Amino acid sequence: MKLKYLTAAMAAALCMTGTSAVFAQGTAAPAQKVTAATPAPKLIVMIAVDQFSADLFAEYRGSFSGGLARLASGVIFPSGYQAHGATETCPGHSTILTGNHPAHTGIVANHYFDLSANREDKRVYCAEDETVAGTSSGGGKYAPSINHLLVPTLGDLMKAHDPRAQVVSVSGKDRSAIMMGGRQADELMWLAPAGLTSYRGTTLSPTAQQASAAIAAAINQPRPAMTLPADCAAHDIAIPLDAKGATVGTGRMARDAGDFRRFMASPEADGAVLATAAALRQVRKMGEGSGTDLLIVGLAATDYVGHSTGTEGSEMCLQMAGLDRELGDFFIRLDATGIDYVVALTADHGGHDLPERNRQNAWPDAQRIDKALDPEAVGKAVAEKLGLPQPILYGEGGDYYFAKTLTAAQRKAALAEILPRLRAHPQIEAVVTREELDAHPISKRAPDTWTLLDKLRASYHPQRSGDFIIALKPRVTPIAEPGVGYVATHGSVWDYDRRVPILFWRKGLTGFEQPNAVMTVDIMPTLASLIGVPVDAAKIDGRCLDLIAGPESSCR
Ligand SMILES: [Zn+2]
Repeated sequence: MKLKYLTAAMAAALCMTGTSAVFAQGTAAPAQKVTAATPAPKLIVMIAVDQFSADLFAEYRGSFSGGLARLASGVIFPSGYQAHGATETCPGHSTILTGNHPAHTGIVANHYFDLSANREDKRVYCAEDETVAGTSSGGGKYAPSINHLLVPTLGDLMKAHDPRAQVVSVSGKDRSAIMMGGRQADELMWLAPAGLTSYRGTTLSPTAQQASAAIAAAINQPRPAMTLPADCAAHDIAIPLDAKGATVGTGRMARDAGDFRRFMASPEADGAVLATAAALRQVRKMGEGSGTDLLIVGLAATDYVGHSTGTEGSEMCLQMAGLDRELGDFFIRLDATGIDYVVALTADHGGHDLPERNRQNAWPDAQRIDKALDPEAVGKAVAEKLGLPQPILYGEGGDYYFAKTLTAAQRKAALAEILPRLRAHPQIEAVVTREELDAHPISKRAPDTWTLLDKLRASYHPQRSGDFIIALKPRVTPIAEPGVGYVATHGSVWDYDRRVPILFWRKGLTGFEQPNAVMTVDIMPTLASLIGVPVDAAKIDGRCLDLIAGPESSCR
């Protein structure tokens, strides 16, 4: 199938070579076999595909023919785990290049509450600086920042080891670019309606500006409906969402000029990020110096498609085909440089289909969350019963925080009222208090054996997490009412949201598959070992994965 999303103008502006090169699956010429004695690769390409669950990888694995087929010929861990409990984007990206669980990265959720924050909005976005005057946590209103990340990234360690190492991070989303890029990145940027943007007050490099202009021009072109490939036909079934006749499942990704949201929910967005990454690599000569450079790529479209239309419709099928194709073109362009590069690909979390389609497809019990579980609603009911001044509860996701206005006695009384109520609710699996989490150590066992408390503990930070945390039962979607652009989500403690593929590929590296559970926190020490950057094992949660089949090891 032919799916190409870069407009001619964008491709020309990014000095793309002819893009119709025939791509042979797997590696091209027979390569020197990689052994423990092979010198370090010159370039690490770290790719995170937002919401690329192990389930999606398994479902589409047989139909990939481009970049994902190449990666599937390398070293495959089909049961990679974002091991923690709050399986959101910011925490997930924070684990990938730090080797640490969110309990240690400090990125416990996309948003948490700091009730002593010195601004009106007490909600804090994971990648903002809430001390900047005039900001709030809402989209477009915060000042992007890495301040909340508590540990170094691979790029930071590489720079400390050899200041000549170049680190570039390009992503669809700010939190992805920031959490993987670290504090020392030479260039760090993400997609925006005007093309590309970065931290306030920074100027994009000339190459990034050129890419930005090309992307903005592409966004401002309308996009006709795509042709559905024959092998997507089985997904093409309309799923009714509401009484007004809205459906998902049969989309073709057509959009009006300037519709940024729909641009993001299509392989066009991933193509734009990959083209920018390739252009920056070329201009900066990354991979052509004496050491190893790090190119970080965050591909967000799969997540936008999942949220807006679910995981099993025509839309996701188009997205998987497009992602495969865009990655293939990107690798072909890297191949042409002759640089010895290693690719690692994973996801920040998995995903789950919308309940309406799950109910049609043999899962009649799939549900949407009861509105009565909203922190405001829970707080209001309990405050009224106990005669407490409102509001008493704040929260989002699974974390619930008590208002600072409560006395210790009022708080105790409120908790005694809330816990049995919530625990009796048919959609709730468990409610855990901060005291329980404080007393629980981080599990050292394999992540597929973790208890609920183990998972929530890996997401717990005493200064940022809630006073108590609720875990919903499996297949309860925490969106009470589906709306246009938001019908399905992730974030749960269950394996459909925790399990992600972890794939490594390098020319000459013998492929193998290891189905036992590993973790995304293992990626950083694995890559660091490959390039000889020392990592203090006491400061991370992950371990080096040996990428060499047979008795030799890539871990030193
Ligand atoms: Zn995500």
